[in-house]
Amino acid sequence: MTEIEIVEIKNLLLIPQEIVILSHRNPDGDAIGSSLGLALLLRKLMHTVKIVVPSEYPNMLSYLPSLDSIEVFDLKHDECRAIVDKAKMIFLLDFNGLDRIDKLGENVQFSKAKKIMIDHHLDPEPVADYVMSETEASSTCELIYKFITQLGYEHLIDEKIGECLFTGLVTDTGSFKYSTRPYTYQVAANLKEKGVDDYTLQNNIFNSLTVKQLQLLGHCLANRMEIMEEHGAAYIYLTKEDYAKFSIGRGDTEGIVNYMLMVHNIKLAALISEQPTVVKISLRSKGDINVQAMASTHFRGGGHKNASGGAAYAKLDDIINRFKQAVPNYTNPS
Ligand code: 5GP
Ligand code: MN
Repeated sequence: MTEIEIVEIKNLLLIPQEIVILSHRNPDGDAIGSSLGLALLLRKLMHTVKIVVPSEYPNMLSYLPSLDSIEVFDLKHDECRAIVDKAKMIFLLDFNGLDRIDKLGENVQFSKAKKIMIDHHLDPEPVADYVMSETEASSTCELIYKFITQLGYEHLIDEKIGECLFTGLVTDTGSFKYSTRPYTYQVAANLKEKGVDDYTLQNNIFNSLTVKQLQLLGHCLANRMEIMEEHGAAYIYLTKEDYAKFSIGRGDTEGIVNYMLMVHNIKLAALISEQPTVVKISLRSKGDINVQAMASTHFRGGGHKNASGGAAYAKLDDIINRFKQAVPNYTNPS
């Protein structure tokens, strides 16, 4: 984003406005953290701010402040459409294309509001008036910190806003294990100086499983994991029956895909889950293996080089086979 664009946005924000912040389906710590952090800041500037996400967020985020300002499109269709239609400014956070917000994308497309996209995914679609897109950024939360700083409002970041933004730093980097750059740590340090209690925060994020979720993890590792030894790949699949037996809800499968990368020599992992209407695939990799290419080529999805996802209206077995056939092209590129 250029300095001129920052000045233009700052001018737009001089008068109190109705603002909506949108983030992606299956919102994660970065989606919710960046939305809440920006909302709290904009409220300090006297704006009226609503957050709308297509589907519910995981329970582990329930320690975050101001969750009551989030509306879920799946639960309140008309109300959410009305919020978007009424807004004079729309922020699009942590996603790069309107298909990530379901039918709300139509309302955004036809809205005359000024649109600002802040995101770190590859290949952003040209849907916004202003775009801050940095694929090297750890998280959208890191970019929100940068955006607030560029606007000259860094001094307005308090402990609560800090908690929101720190959340995305932690969740999108797996506790600073990947996707970091020096600036990521500078932001973390500055937020800690603002009073963020990162130990409590990490405890809230990572030690908040239910017994059921832990048992589901055990089931996945013991009964549903297949190793493709010769390709350094592995996958876990979950059937509709598993969904019923473990009454799997939103967020219950979060993080499971990462366990396979703990195995020596496994560099590509997938979680393939047969959900009520679609089969969803989550992909993770280490090093040069590009799962973003795999997700966009084979599963109509996208994301980042080392963490991507997609979905398909197909049979579970077909998606498993599609994955297995695709694997050699990515692990042993010719
Ligand atoms: P997850 O596997 O945790 O659902 O998502 C990993 C990454 O891939 C996230 O950055 C997410 O935004 C992206 N992603 C997940 N599912 C999809 C999808 O269906 N389409 C696209 N374009 N990106 C996805
Ligand atoms: Mn993110």
